[in-house]
Amino acid sequence: MTANPTRLGAIREIEANEAPTAFFNGTDESPEIFGENVFSLPVMAKRLPKSVYKSVAATIEKGDKLDPAIADVVAAAMKDWAMEKGVTHYAHVFYPLTGLTAEKHDSFMEPVGDGTAIWEFQGKILVQGEPDASSFPNGGIRATFEARGYTGWDVQSPAYILENPNGSTLCIPTIFVSMTGEALDYKTPLLRSQKAMSEQATRVLAAFGHKDIDNVVSYCGPEQEYFLVDTSFVNSRPDLLIAGRTLFGAKPAKGQEFDDHYFGAIPERVLAFMHDTERALFKLGVPAKTRHNEVAPGQFEIAPVFQKANLAADHQQLLMTTFKSIAKRHGFAALFHEKPFAGVNGSGKHVNFSFGNGNQGNFLNPGDNPHDNAQFLVFCAAVIRAVHLYGGLLRVSIASAGNDHRLGANEAPPAIISIFLGDQLQDVFEQIAKGGATSSKQKGALSVGVDSLPVLTQDAGDRNRTSPMAFTGNRFEFRAVGSAQTVAAPLVIINTIMAEALDYIATELEAAVASGTEFNAAVQQVLAKVIEQHGAAVFNGNGYSTEWHEEAVTRGLKKLDTTVDSLPEYQTPEAKELFSKYGVFNEAELEARYEVALEQYLMAVNVEANLTEEIAKTTILPSAVRYQTELADNVASLEAAGIEADKSDLLALSELVATLRTGIKGLQAAVAGQHDTEGIEEAAYVKDTVLPAMLVVREAADALESVVADDLWDLPTYQEMLFIR
Ligand code: ADP
Ligand code: MG
Repeated sequence: MTANPTRLGAIREIEANEAPTAFFNGTDESPEIFGENVFSLPVMAKRLPKSVYKSVAATIEKGDKLDPAIADVVAAAMKDWAMEKGVTHYAHVFYPLTGLTAEKHDSFMEPVGDGTAIWEFQGKILVQGEPDASSFPNGGIRATFEARGYTGWDVQSPAYILENPNGSTLCIPTIFVSMTGEALDYKTPLLRSQKAMSEQATRVLAAFGHKDIDNVVSYCGPEQEYFLVDTSFVNSRPDLLIAGRTLFGAKPAKGQEFDDHYFGAIPERVLAFMHDTERALFKLGVPAKTRHNEVAPGQFEIAPVFQKANLAADHQQLLMTTFKSIAKRHGFAALFHEKPFAGVNGSGKHVNFSFGNGNQGNFLNPGDNPHDNAQFLVFCAAVIRAVHLYGGLLRVSIASAGNDHRLGANEAPPAIISIFLGDQLQDVFEQIAKGGATSSKQKGALSVGVDSLPVLTQDAGDRNRTSPMAFTGNRFEFRAVGSAQTVAAPLVIINTIMAEALDYIATELEAAVASGTEFNAAVQQVLAKVIEQHGAAVFNGNGYSTEWHEEAVTRGLKKLDTTVDSLPEYQTPEAKELFSKYGVFNEAELEARYEVALEQYLMAVNVEANLTEEIAKTTILPSAVRYQTELADNVASLEAAGIEADKSDLLALSELVATLRTGIKGLQAAVAGQHDTEGIEEAAYVKDTVLPAMLVVREAADALESVVADDLWDLPTYQEMLFIR
């Protein structure tokens, strides 16, 4: 154990820390608490007049247009329900381009003019809000129009009550747009892309002869990885506190190959935290079902059960905010950064997705007859086309300064977007390409279908952890998403590129049938065409291997290693055409996504650069210099006493101190040079000049960490942060 007073103090605090005994969220674990704080369909069924309930339910379940006349009735019922639960305020919740969640709070209390007040919540206030939008990034959109932003009620994502020790709030999920209707958020394009995908999927289903076709939606099940680090440590790590990742820290002597219980870990505290968050999430109707330890020490995962993409995206944001606030109460910081600790496994977010509707089920589920399988193969083919044509857009949707530390680092999928199909499906598509599949490779045996297409079996055991986009039995799993990112960004892209692919397939099928081709033959034809044109995106091998990285390039796939390489994907003519054709982004909105992503990247790296300089100058250098003086004094004392002194430690240390000083000066110069550039050149400069300059400082500092006397080293070490809980 350390002799440094700061670090020792933190450890003593942690040892004395016990899980909070009286949980704010209650201790009830019964299933009844699920959705307790949600203004859900069953609650509405009880509280709304029948006709109003029917109308709202149709909007929620079928995507029908909202009848504005019912807003007052719903608002009043919502207010009564919330006030019975002790709520006094409401908030429009929205999802600005920072990727975070924003809220504007107001009281139900309404002054009535004679000096008194009443509780009131009008329909028009439920439907529309007007938050001060100036503090949210807009990528230049509002500059050309107006400074105001509007929030609009999203009926499909239910209102809920957020409990807080200082009073609870009724939260209403909303879209966030400019006065002229441009999207300033993630929900607006998600809903638009959902609609586009649904329209095209419906055409494909109609071609397959389905009559009663429900609104098609995408489903998403996000798996979230995170770290828990004790607040006592985080408070003495300005890098973790402000940038969310450590900018310094020598690798721990014990790495992730050692188990979590080393160093007297206190797993009960983690368990108590998990219980508490799950209880809070259950009350909010978030199905937080699966939890487990992850690879790295102090790393965990939570995976809610999949839901409609729009709801899953809102729930995912709610999950992150809930984690942050409950972790704090338990004396932890929940770290969502993609790479909080260099040299230790980072965190991702797997976005599992599928498409379906109420009456035709999940379209990515292989059926048990050839006809269903034809439809399944068509949807898989659509994913193949979508990923092949627009892999660059998938890549840019998950580009961030944080995720740059992870992608392609042999712990996360490479920065090349390819598809893994598994042996069986790959084989079927290969046969189709050769002129018709009649058998499917089932664990070696052949099963011949009664029709022209094979019977497929679901093989969930077929896994490839190195693929960014893997078929896993009844869904695809997009594994390259960063742990801190909103899942809405990739879901917007997935829906839109699927709309394009389904549009293409529907058009081909319709034309073939119209010209007299038999339907099964038409399906066969279009599948063969897709696999021939887009099969290059299919790769079943090891995505981490260098051979693949070389081969991918010869196949014409994009290898976009960093955010800077990816950002131009928003500006291609193909992207502009795609998004405007399907009504997801107009040109100004698309340009705004680019601008904001660029701005966010620069901001993240600049904060890190400033912190690196500050910590190096005010914490690390002083510790090193103090130790240098100690060693120098020792040498001087020995020599004064006539004893020959060994100066080697002093000389080695002095060399490192000099390297650190030079590194700091180099970083200052690098940062100063940034002002000569702008736009994407500035981002490229930051990547090629500022980030490496930070690394020079870090390397010198990390080398010092292993030689400076431990009692003089104030920054909590990797070992302490990762193993003491
Ligand atoms: P893994 O083996 O990948 O860890 P999990 O059982 O943890 O798998 O599930 C991963 C996620 O996939 C969960 O959120 C789960 O609900 C989700 N999922 C399962 N089926 C589907 C589907 N059809 N569409 C979307 N997500 C799904
Ligand atoms: Mg998974």
